[in-house]
Amino acid sequence: MSEHARRVFRLQNKFIKVFNMTSHNQELFDASQQVIPGGVNSPVRAFRSVGGTPLFFQRGRGAYVWDADDKRYIDYVGSWGPMIAGHCHPDVVKAVQDAAANGLGFGAPTASELEIAGLLCRLLPSLEMVRLVSSGTEATMTAIRLARGFTGRSRIVKFEGCYHGHSDGLLVKAGSGALTFGQPSSSGVPAEIAALTTVLDYNDAAGLERAFAEMGDEIAAVIVEPVAGNMNLVAPRPEFLAALRQVCTRHGAVLILDEVMTGFRVSLQGAQGYYGIKPDLVTLGKVMGGGLPAAAFGGRRDIMQCLAPMGSVYQAGTLSGNPVAVAAGLATLKLVQQEGFYEYLEQRAKQLTEGLTAAAEKYGIPFCAQSVGGMFGLYFSDAIPTSYAEVMSCDKEAFNRFFHAMLDAGVYLAPSAFEAGFVSSAHTAADIDETIAAADAIFSGWK
Ligand SMILES: *Cc1c(COP(=O)(O)O)cnc(C)c1O
Repeated sequence: MSEHARRVFRLQNKFIKVFNMTSHNQELFDASQQVIPGGVNSPVRAFRSVGGTPLFFQRGRGAYVWDADDKRYIDYVGSWGPMIAGHCHPDVVKAVQDAAANGLGFGAPTASELEIAGLLCRLLPSLEMVRLVSSGTEATMTAIRLARGFTGRSRIVKFEGCYHGHSDGLLVKAGSGALTFGQPSSSGVPAEIAALTTVLDYNDAAGLERAFAEMGDEIAAVIVEPVAGNMNLVAPRPEFLAALRQVCTRHGAVLILDEVMTGFRVSLQGAQGYYGIKPDLVTLGKVMGGGLPAAAFGGRRDIMQCLAPMGSVYQAGTLSGNPVAVAAGLATLKLVQQEGFYEYLEQRAKQLTEGLTAAAEKYGIPFCAQSVGGMFGLYFSDAIPTSYAEVMSCDKEAFNRFFHAMLDAGVYLAPSAFEAGFVSSAHTAADIDETIAAADAIFSGWK
């Protein structure tokens, strides 16, 4: 090769390298789409709602996460809730390492399961007995089966916009016209199964009363997110929660509070303690696993005793009560019991929502926000929504624009206008101020 040819070759190579310096996130996403449907293992991760390329994270610490390009973000997703003490809290990491060194799993009882079950029952007085599973989906699916087995009834009631995992009977939306029969919200869910689910409006106590007046004796269970966090954040009206308890008691239906998100998130006693409502069954997940797959359902002893091997309602799990997951959960639950933990979370969440609201107001942007304990909702709207329909009428395009601008500024919000956000005890007042300053800069050039 001549000297000239070599130089051209080198330049060409260099050019190709520079030209190829696209983001590692993009490269990873392109490759992932070849072997994983949509490139993700859970749909909302794909950024379809906000558009663009999802971030691939390589590490997290405290309130921060770093993507594949080593860019740092202040994280308001926290693995969708579990990271309530921040990423890689040393106590949690140590507990996981210690547990792993003793064996990753046995498929047989361990003392740590007793420890976490006892702790859950002590922290949440509505739990007389509890069973451990590995995901929120398993917890809700089994709670429904248990309620059906206990009551001998088939119909269940859920609320539009609430998410309870991806089991068949819960992927259901309101049917058009008829009040009674739900319709599948996913292909693959048989219409016959969806028809056993009645879908009502969240926060509509009168609608709930009407449904129970019509078919109360057929209803095995009502399942509800006591603070809805899967349609952005919708707080419950006190009269709605009171009506839930009343109609279930009156008609012998099982009230299931799905606290997979709100448990140990809105307060140490969950939403049931925060609002003073007593469920028959409770489902837990997210925070109680500390980032690893641990979840649970529990409640009234007479209902829980229907479960195999005591009773005839079957449920099982190879990985249920896995010692490493339980260790992460126990370590996390120890942290949240520290004096002032929830006061601190609440202060940070309030600082954030009030700061963002003030910034938007300065520039006349229709925006509002609220928080409950350590979770928050942001709305591009004039008023805080109280129902699914009102959430749907928020300005989604404005959120998407805001989301991407915040991402550029190093703030990671949930990649959808329809998800709640989370703060952790690792978020400092300075982190929140930095977030508000980023939003202020974005809002100042809005229009
Ligand atoms: C996340 C969530 C679930 C599902 O939990 P997975 O662990 O994702 O299966 C169920 N209910 C609520 C309220 C949730 O937020």
